[in-house]
Amino acid sequence: MKALIKVLVVSVVGAGIGVGVGRMLAPTGEPPPKTSLGKLQKGNEHFVKGKLTHPRQDPETRQKLAYEGQSPMAIVVACADSRVPPEILFDQGLGDLFVVRCAGNVVDDYQIASIEYAVAHLKVPLLVVLGHSDCGAVKACVAGKPLEGHLPKLMQGIEPALRKVKATRPHLKDKALVERVIAENVRLTLLNLYKRSEIIQTQMKKGKLEIAGGVYHLSEGTIEWLKLPEEIAFAEAKPEKPGAPKEAHGHEVHGEKEHAHEEKAAEGVKHSQKAHSEKHADPHAGGKGSH
Ligand SMILES: [Zn+2]
Repeated sequence: MKALIKVLVVSVVGAGIGVGVGRMLAPTGEPPPKTSLGKLQKGNEHFVKGKLTHPRQDPETRQKLAYEGQSPMAIVVACADSRVPPEILFDQGLGDLFVVRCAGNVVDDYQIASIEYAVAHLKVPLLVVLGHSDCGAVKACVAGKPLEGHLPKLMQGIEPALRKVKATRPHLKDKALVERVIAENVRLTLLNLYKRSEIIQTQMKKGKLEIAGGVYHLSEGTIEWLKLPEEIAFAEAKPEKPGAPKEAHGHEVHGEKEHAHEEKAAEGVKHSQKAHSEKHADPHAGGKGSH
């Protein structure tokens, strides 16, 4: 009898501990991000920590995509610089990102057409323009020296950002000027896409396409998410964790305390997060290495 009571007591205590442990463990298991932007942010966290998961790069995924076709979760317009490959710095795999790269992350007809294809035909719900620190194309534009071949044409794409920064912040020089132009160039590329593409404009207004602009920091690996121009801020993608972009920025890029965009981004989007999450949460949520 004594032994039986002992067993019962141990069982009850054991069960109690079990419940307690269960309760303690549950909150630590973070739910996977639901939105495309959340998935990119999560992937970038892996990259920053040096803990890449290399998802969806196996032969099964390759065959599945070849058979079923692509359904990328985001379009990323990035610089051609070899140090900023979007698939690696967002820790994504085959079929995840529709990437358009051009030095200085500027866009003209061919890039716009590529993006329109992804928006209109692949129904991609997020468009990201990604600049990066120490961008050679932006530095060349700021330096203003004569360039050979087709390079002057590329400079024409970046010049509006330089003119805008010089007009609004004439005191900026050297590195601070370059950094500001890098950020402004990202914003103007987004605005340029909106103004020049009826397809992009329509999908944004319908709430089917969200946008985000960021600056990738070469040494830290982090991405600073920017405040967008007012004309298009209505479609700004919403970070999943309040204050997440602020953490992601980590430091001042432009040497000025005017990062109102963090507050803006944390405020959230007024439009249509729902549409995307619904369409894109499922295909990318399950299986190994979800976004
Ligand atoms: Zn660059």
